Amino acid sequence: MLRISEIKLPLDHPAEALPAAIVARLGIAPTDLLSWEVARRANDARRKSAILMVYSVDVTLADEASVLARFADDSHVRPTPDTGYRFVATAPADAPRPVVIGAGPCGLFAGLILAQMGFRPIILERGKVVRERTKDTWGLWRRSVLNPESNVQFGEGGAGTFSDGKLYSQIKDPRFLGRKVLTEFVKAGAPEEILTEAHPHIGTFRLVSMVENMRATVEELGGEYRFEQRVVDFDIRDGRLRGLHLHNGDYLETGHVVLAIGHSSRDTFHALHDRGVHIEAKPFSIGVRIEHPQSWIDRARFGQCAGHPDLGAAAYALSHHCANGRSVYSFCMCPGGRVVAATSEEGRVVTNGMSQYSRKEFNANSGLVVGIDPERDYPGHPLAGIALQRHWEERAFVAGGSSYEAPGQLVGDFLARRPSSALGAVTPSYKPGVHLTDLSLCLPDFAIDALCEALPVFGRQIARYDDPDAIMTGVETRTSSPIRITRGKDFQSLNVAGLFPAGEGAGYAGGILSAAVDGIKVAEAVALSLAG
Ligand SMILES: Cc1cc2nc3c(=O)[nH]c(=O)nc-3n(C[C@H](O)[C@H](O)[C@H](O)COP(=O)(O)OP(=O)(O)OC[C@H]3O[C@@H](n4cnc5c(N)ncnc54)[C@H](O)[C@@H]3O)c2cc1C
Repeated sequence: MLRISEIKLPLDHPAEALPAAIVARLGIAPTDLLSWEVARRANDARRKSAILMVYSVDVTLADEASVLARFADDSHVRPTPDTGYRFVATAPADAPRPVVIGAGPCGLFAGLILAQMGFRPIILERGKVVRERTKDTWGLWRRSVLNPESNVQFGEGGAGTFSDGKLYSQIKDPRFLGRKVLTEFVKAGAPEEILTEAHPHIGTFRLVSMVENMRATVEELGGEYRFEQRVVDFDIRDGRLRGLHLHNGDYLETGHVVLAIGHSSRDTFHALHDRGVHIEAKPFSIGVRIEHPQSWIDRARFGQCAGHPDLGAAAYALSHHCANGRSVYSFCMCPGGRVVAATSEEGRVVTNGMSQYSRKEFNANSGLVVGIDPERDYPGHPLAGIALQRHWEERAFVAGGSSYEAPGQLVGDFLARRPSSALGAVTPSYKPGVHLTDLSLCLPDFAIDALCEALPVFGRQIARYDDPDAIMTGVETRTSSPIRITRGKDFQSLNVAGLFPAGEGAGYAGGILSAAVDGIKVAEAVALSLAG
C-alpha cells in the first residue's frame, strides 16, 4: 500500500473527484487504482476565496513498485507507514502490581497499557468516578459551591474531561503512539473520524462515557481503580520508593509508581518536594480568556464559505512577540464553546474553555496568554511558580466579587485602561457569572502591556478580534505545569528509583494527546523494569 499526500481539491468537490485526482497525480490508468481510503483530511483556508480540502490517501495499486520508482524523489508518494502498536513486554506470573497515581489521560493510558501487558495495575485517583464528579463540577458552575477534591481538575478522566477534547499535538511521534491513543479512544466510543481528521476533537459529553468504557476495559484485564484515594506522602528510603501514604491513613507498599498527577495537584507537589524528590521550576503562561461571537471568527477565517458543513466552526492560532520581550499567544481555542470555572482551590478563580462535539454554542473562546519564566518572574524556589499562580488567582477571586464570579472587562475598556461597567454586543459565557471590573487588578503590569500591544495586531489578522465589545475574563493561570519533576533516560525520577514522573504535571506533556502518549511511554518503562 502507498500513501499519497498533499492532494488538494476545491472545498465543494464531488466524491468522485478524489479517486480521479489520485489517478491523475500518479499518471496511472483508472483500472490500476484497486482501492483507496482517506488517511488524513484537512482544510487550507489561507485564501478565503479558494478554500481547499487537502487529503492524504492510502492506495492499493496494480503495480506499486513501478509507481514508487517513478516517484522516488517525491516525499508525497511513500509506502504507507506501519502504525500498528506492539507491546514491549509481557508480565511475568509473579510480577508485583504497579501503581498509577491519577486517572487523567496520562494515568488512563499508563493503566491501560500496563493492563494490556498483563500487569494488573492499581490506579489511585483523589477525585470521584466521572458521573459523580460531573455533578460536583456543575455545583461550582451553577451554585458557586466548590468541592476541592472533585472539580474540573480532579476526578476520573483528569483535567481534559470537561474540555473541547482537542486531540492533536506538536509532539514528535516516530512510533505512532498517538495512533494507538486515537484507536483506543475509538474503541471506547469516540467517532471514527478522529482517525482521519487533521484537527480532531471529541467534546465533553462523549469524553465522559469514553472514560467509563476505558475503565471497564482496564478492570476486565485485571486492573483496579481506587477512587477518592489521595496520595499524601511518599515513603522514600535509600534513594528508592518503598510505598505510598494515603489520606485515610492507609499505606500501600510499592516500588513502581507512575506519577500522573496533572498540573493542579499543588499539595502533592509540596509533599514530593518535602521528601527531596528532584523538582525544577519551569516556564508557563498567564493571561485571560477572550470571547467573540463564533460568527465573527467564521467570517474572518472562511469569508463567504462561513457555515459550510465541511468546515465546521472556525478555529485560530495567534502569536505575537512584544516590544517588552514577552510573547502573547492564543491557547486552547474552543470554537462554539464556553468559558468554564476551572479552580480546584477555595478563594481562587481560574478560567479555561470547553466545547461540545457539535461546537454549536454562540461564542468562540480562547486563552490569550503571556509567557513567563522562572529566571525573570519567579526565581529562587522550585515551587515559586505555584505561589505566583495562587497570588493572581486570589486577586481574580477578589476582583470578581469574592463569589467565584470571574472578573471581566471589554476589550475596548481594557485597551483604554479603564474599568468596564456595562456589556456590549458580546455576552460572556462563564458561569456562575462575570463581574465587570478592571483586569489590571489581577494580572501583572507586563502582562497588561503585552496584551494591549498584541490585541490590535491580532485584530489585523482576524477582523474584529480587537472589537471594543469582545470580552475578556480572568485569570488563565493553569496553562501548563509550573514545575518539572525531572526524569532520566529510564523515565525514573533523577533521584528516586521506582518513581516514574509522567504527563502534564511532571512537565512532560501539554494536552490530552501528548499526556496519553507520555502515559504509554512511561508504562512501557515500568513494564520493562518489572519484566527484568
Ligand atoms: C477545562 C479544560 C479544557 C481543556 N481542553 C483541552 C483540549 O481541548 N485539548 C487538550 O489536548 N487539552 C485540553 N486541556 C488540557 C488537558 O486536559 C491536560 O493537558 C491533560 O488532562 C493532562 O493529563 P494528565 O493525565 O497529565 O493530568 P490530569 O488530566 O490533570 O490528571 C491528573 C489526575 O491525577 C489526580 N491526582 C492528582 N493528585 C493526586 C493524588 N495526590 N492522589 C491521587 N490522585 C491524584 C487528579 O485528580 C487527576 O484526575 C484542558 C484542560 C482543562 C482544565
